Order: sequence, then C-alpha cells, then structure tokens
Amino acid sequence: ALTLGIVGLPNVGKSTLFNALTRNDVLAANYPFATIEPNVGVVPLPDRRLDVLAGISGSEKVVPATVSFVDIAGIVKGASEGEGLGNQFLATIREADAICQVVRVFSDPDVVHVDGRVDPAADIDTVATELVLADLQTLEKAVPRLEKDVKGKRADPAVLAAVQGAIAVLERGTTLFQGATAAGVDLALLSELTLLTSKPFVYVFNTDEAGLGDTARRAELEALVAPAGCVFLDAAVESELVELEPEDAAEMLASTGQTESGLDQLARVGFSTLGLQTYLTTGPKESRAWTIRRGWTAPQAAGVIHTDFQRGFIKAEVVSFDDLVDAGSHAEAKSRGKVRIEGKDYVMADGDVVEFRFNV
Ligand code: GDP
Repeated sequence: ALTLGIVGLPNVGKSTLFNALTRNDVLAANYPFATIEPNVGVVPLPDRRLDVLAGISGSEKVVPATVSFVDIAGIVKGASEGEGLGNQFLATIREADAICQVVRVFSDPDVVHVDGRVDPAADIDTVATELVLADLQTLEKAVPRLEKDVKGKRADPAVLAAVQGAIAVLERGTTLFQGATAAGVDLALLSELTLLTSKPFVYVFNTDEAGLGDTARRAELEALVAPAGCVFLDAAVESELVELEPEDAAEMLASTGQTESGLDQLARVGFSTLGLQTYLTTGPKESRAWTIRRGWTAPQAAGVIHTDFQRGFIKAEVVSFDDLVDAGSHAEAKSRGKVRIEGKDYVMADGDVVEFRFNV
C-alpha cells in the first residue's frame, strides 16, 4: 500500500499524533486478517457517501478506503551527515510515497523545543534542509557515472541534464517538489534515484485551541508551504477524541466549532497527496470504497477487487453517486438512462458507483 512517512523535529507531537492514528476500531472490524505493523498507522478515509449507499442497498456494512502512515523516528539537524539517525532514517523515508511533516505551532512552557523557541517556518526549513542535503549527495554521486555512460552512449543525455537541473534547484535550498516543475526539471527521468524531496509533501500544524481559530495565522502558514497541502489540528485533543464514543467525539468537536476531526482531515489530505481516488460498489452485503490511482481505466480499477476482474474485463456499468441518490435505487437510475455502459478505455471518475461484468 502507498504510505505517508511522518517526520518532524523532536517534541512537536509526532508520537501523540501517531498514537491517535493507530487506535482504530473501524479497521479491526473491517480488516480482521490484516497484519498491522507497529510503526504503521492505518486510518479510514471518511466518506459519507458510503452510509448513503448502504441505506439505498440495505448493506450489512460499509468498508471505507484507508490511508497508511509510517512513523519515521525523529529527524535532527545533521541527519544527512550521519548524525542523529542518519542513514537508517534516510532509508526508511526513501520507502515512503509522500512525506508528512508534523510542525509545532502550540506553545507550552512545559514542553521543551529543541531550538529553544517555537518557529514553524524555521522548523520546516530545518527538515527540508536535511532532505535537500541528502538529495544533493545522491545526485552528485550519480554525476560522474552518468557522464561516463552518456559518453559511451549507454545513458540518455536528458537524464544527465535532469540531474544537473535538479542539483541547481536544490542548491537554492528548494525541495524538488516545490521547485522542479518551475525549473523545467523532468522528475520522471530521475525516478530511479528515489530522491526524497521529489516526493509530495503534506504538513500537519500541531496547534492549540486558540491557534485553530486564528484564521490570519493559518493563512500565513498555508501560504508558507504551498503547493503542499496542510492540516491544522491539536494532537493532544485528537488523541482524546479517538478514545470517545462517536456521539461524544462529535459533541466535543462541536464545542470547539469544528465539524470534522483533524485525523479525518489528515486522512483526506493525505489520500489526495498520494494521488489516489476512490470508486464505490454497493450491494446487500456491503457498500465499499476502493482505492485507485487518479487516471486509472475501468479494467485497472476492476483489478483492485480481483485480478480475474481485470483479466476477464468485459464492461463496467457505471452510475454517478449523485445520479444514483437522485433516482433512489439502481433500477430507477437505469430506467432514467443514468446507468452508463463503459468499456476498457473508460477513465474512472471519483464517486463512480460501479458493477463490473467479466469472463472467468
Ligand atoms: P514527538 O517527540 O514529536 O513524538 O512529540 P510527542 O508526541 O512525544 O510530544 C511531546 C510533548 O508535547 C508531550 O509531552 C506531549 O504531551 C506534548 N504535546 C503534543 N501535542 C501537543 C499539543 O497539541 N499541545 C500541547 N500543549 N502539548 C502537546
């Protein structure tokens, strides 16, 4: 499964957040045979459409899509030089598909900040710098070999140009995620190097209650990390919320003026940062969300349910969620002509409710 790797400086609330992420009864109920590793937090992607579908079909249960987070032990200044966790840290982060940095915004005199003051911009910079330095090392090591291979016509000169372009971006102190496209660097050519800063980023601003309501400050921080997505939450509150019954949790959220928990928001932003989307199936047994990559075709989507579905794919019967809800039943949607028959080239849209036809 695709994962987001959680990083951040010490004492910013990573463990607090991660403990909340890993406490999940929903998953235990739906994936009883899943072996969940201790450093992996699997959270359901909130999707109100599933309950609506379950109502229409009389489903026994709903099965949400999930998002996985890997806890990557603390980063410190000098990590790229083998100080702190050094190479082990970098190896773990390399395996993640996206990077989720927890940034401390809350102030609490009882919780020491490693650099002695709470400064989100500086913390973001510290972590980015370590990752930038690690990528520079990787790229600079690749240059001599590539130059030789290009001379010997064993490598594409475009790859060497991309490496040099990437080095220039990083030397300005910019991550590749933020700077590569603008600089015309084709990251696809560099995929074999598994560069850390070319991964998509998302930021969790760990804020206290007052900070959650400070819209001007939030806008500032959002602008600071753009184009990366971000979420504002209070990790301490989130870890309390997961201990409560759903009704009590909703009440506690409402008392702070929120409609959705920070973890739910994080699941959503994380899911889209990974470039994922869902399609839906529904029946008496279950209403379920299936995870696919954006841009996948109907047969690829069918393959997520079962490889036989992809191999023997004939067609997909597709109705958009809104059309199905308007009609009130699959039969009525059909008689209104809202159920489309799609072939193997159909590109799935988010919220498609699908039934596949296939040969076995
Ligand atoms: P980590 O080192 O990044 O894993 O940080 P921890 O999750 O261990 O948190 C460090 C300390 O900060 C702990 O004492 C937490 O209870 C506290 N803490 C975490 N999140 C918050 C928060 O949102 N507000 C406040 N006031 N304290 C927090």
